[in-house]
Amino acid sequence: MEENIKKYNLFKEKFPQVRENVELSQFTAYKIGGPADLYLEARDSYDIPEFVEKALELEIPYYILGGGCNIVFSDVGFEGLVIHNKANGIEIHGSRVVAESGAILGVVIAKAREKELGGIINMVGLPGTIGGAVYGNAGAHGVEIGDFVESVKLFDKDSGVKEEGPEYFQFSYRSSILKKTHEIVLSVTLLLPPLDQNDAALEVVKFRAAKQPKGNVAGSFFKNPRANESAGFLIDKAGLKGTREGGIEVSLLHGNWLMNTGNGTQKNVVDLARKIKKEVYNQFKIELEPENIVIDERGNKVDI
Ligand SMILES: Cc1cc2nc3c(=O)[nH]c(=O)nc-3n(C[C@H](O)[C@H](O)[C@H](O)COP(=O)(O)OP(=O)(O)OC[C@H]3O[C@@H](n4cnc5c(N)ncnc54)[C@H](O)[C@@H]3O)c2cc1C
Repeated sequence: MEENIKKYNLFKEKFPQVRENVELSQFTAYKIGGPADLYLEARDSYDIPEFVEKALELEIPYYILGGGCNIVFSDVGFEGLVIHNKANGIEIHGSRVVAESGAILGVVIAKAREKELGGIINMVGLPGTIGGAVYGNAGAHGVEIGDFVESVKLFDKDSGVKEEGPEYFQFSYRSSILKKTHEIVLSVTLLLPPLDQNDAALEVVKFRAAKQPKGNVAGSFFKNPRANESAGFLIDKAGLKGTREGGIEVSLLHGNWLMNTGNGTQKNVVDLARKIKKEVYNQFKIELEPENIVIDERGNKVDI
């Protein structure tokens, strides 16, 4: 503890704007997460390497937070530095969109649409940052962000800042190589096709409004195990809609969405998700894998 205080004070000397004991629940879709020991906002993507290098030098664990739409933080918080990515510049040159990684995907889509660019339009209503989207290859209605990535600026401690093309990321269903390498996305260049005459935005918005639960939710908890057998369908078939653990409930509208009804905790999410996984396995012999990212106070993945 004393050791930490010493490190934290040295970090504060370099970055006086750092805040201490900041509740992470306020930044996450589930409204779950205890305090981060240290919390810093990055307003420019090139702030991020600076923050990370200092944290590494002082051996302070760090975690990159985007829109908080796919993350379940620990109830005791994060023992280290949370870097909240608010670097949100967007430029459009012809059919190329260059966005800092903290740009909100919905804003990127809207700005592209203003310039008559489409492609990513089916992801309208998908919340979070473009950096978070690249990390998990977010997608909806038949398209994924990886389909449109031309290049990405990345940072990691060994290579510094570098630029990689789409093949590097090994994009697959809700996954990219970043889940292994933990490199940080600084900015993303998308190459977009012209807006289709059948601009799908309105239809998608209507679909989301009708089919998706509202409130403290973070999209699908589990990945779909097969294209023709969604996790939501299996959870529903297993009779688990409405099941609760503490303040967390399986949505009655969509079996794969968990909802924080007010005072839910990470422990409730984990207990409920494990229960669902076990029941689905018992009934259908299908192993569900989480899509939401659940981490402990040191940033390690919590197994479901
Ligand atoms: C209402 C709702 C609907 C949703 N619908 C969909 C959907 O249709 N399809 C879908 O795919 N998802 C959906 N999601 C989930 C979520 O929107 C996506 O996973 C989104 O891409 C997460 O982005 P984020 O910025 O919020 O990431 P966060 O939740 O902040 O972070 C998620 C992970 O990405 C990492 N990360 C974030 N930024 C960076 C960066 N710059 N560099 C490296 N790593 C980074 C974080 O460290 C963390 O491990 C939905 C969520 C909600 C709340």
